[in-house]
Amino acid sequence: MSTEQQRRQAIKDHSPLPGDNFVYGVLTTGIFCLPICPSRRPRDENVRLFDTPVQAIQNGYRPCRRCHPLGDIAAPSTATVIALCRLIEAAERKPTLTELSAQSGWSAHHLQRQFKAVAGISPHQYGVAIRRRRAQQQLRYKQSLTLSAHLAGFDSTSHLHAVAGNTLGMKPGQYRQAGKDMALRFAIAESSLGSVLVAESERGICAVTIGDDPSVLLQDFEQEFSGATLLPGNSEFDQRVAMVITLIDDPHQITQAPRDLLPLDIRGTAFQQQVWAALQTIPTGQTLSYQALAVKLGKPTAARAVAQACASNRLAVLVPCHRIVRTDGGLSGYRWGVGRKAALLDREREPSDK
Ligand SMILES: [Zn+2]
Repeated sequence: MSTEQQRRQAIKDHSPLPGDNFVYGVLTTGIFCLPICPSRRPRDENVRLFDTPVQAIQNGYRPCRRCHPLGDIAAPSTATVIALCRLIEAAERKPTLTELSAQSGWSAHHLQRQFKAVAGISPHQYGVAIRRRRAQQQLRYKQSLTLSAHLAGFDSTSHLHAVAGNTLGMKPGQYRQAGKDMALRFAIAESSLGSVLVAESERGICAVTIGDDPSVLLQDFEQEFSGATLLPGNSEFDQRVAMVITLIDDPHQITQAPRDLLPLDIRGTAFQQQVWAALQTIPTGQTLSYQALAVKLGKPTAARAVAQACASNRLAVLVPCHRIVRTDGGLSGYRWGVGRKAALLDREREPSDK
C-alpha cells in the first residue's frame, strides 16, 4: 500500500501508482477521479483518498466523466450492485435480501456473491454501516435540530452534514411573514472559509451563510425560516451546493455570474432588491464603495441605506456584498466576518491562471 504522500504526489503528477487502485474524491464537487485524470487539480484540503472506486461511491462520490474511474469494473454486475447500494441508502428501513433479490433479478445466493465481490461487504453489513453513519450524523445535530427520524433518509453525500426532510420545530422569527408556507431544502458543507449553509426554496437559493460552527448556522436558519416545511435533498441540489463552495474556494473556476447559473430566490423590500441586483453586476475581482453604489442607483444621498441593505443580504457570495468597500478602500464590516471578506477579495483578485 502506498503512503498518503505518494498518493498525493501521484495526483499532482497525473500518474498512476503501480499496484495501487486508489482514487481521489473532490469534496467541493462530489466527484471522484483516477490520479491520471486530466482535470484541474483541486486544492489539497479538498482531496479525499479512497483505496478503491467502490469506497468512493460508498462515501457518496460520483465517478468523473473524463477519466471514468470505474473503467472496466463498470460491468453490468457492478452497475447493479451500485444501484442496490443506492437503494439501501435511500430506504427508510433496511431492505430484506428477498427485496434486493427481486429488485436486481438475481437469486439471493448470486446477489450475496456479486455484492461482496464489488462492495467488499455483504448487503446486510452495508445496510448496518449506512445506518450507523446516519445515526452519528443525527447525533451531531440533535441539539439544534428537532427533526424526526425521517431525517436519516436524506443524507446523500458524505460532505453534506445534514440534508433534512421534515418540518423543523422552530421558533417564530422575522422571516415568518415571507417564509410562511415555504418549502425548503438545506445543506451544510465545508469550505476553506468555514461551514456554509445553503438553503433553497422551490424558486431558487434563498440563503447562503458562512460561519465557524455549523450548529450556530443551523440555529440562525431555524430562526429565520421558522415554520417552513423541509424538502428532501437531491443530487441537483448537491451540485448547486458544490457550486457555492467552489465560488468560495476557487472563484476563478466559475466564469459565469452566479445568477446565470443558479436560480435565486431573493426576498426583500424594493430598495433592498435594487441594491442586491446592483451588487450582482460588480464583476469578480472588482470592488465598489457604498457611495459609488448609491450613485449608480441614482440615489447619491442614500449611501447609508445602501450599507444597511448590504448588511441584510442573505446570500453570501452569490450576492457579492463582499465587493463593497469604504470610499477610502477600507474593508468595513461583513456579516460573515471581515477576515472572510478579505480572503474572498484576495482570491478574486488572483490571476485566474494561478
Ligand atoms: Zn476525472
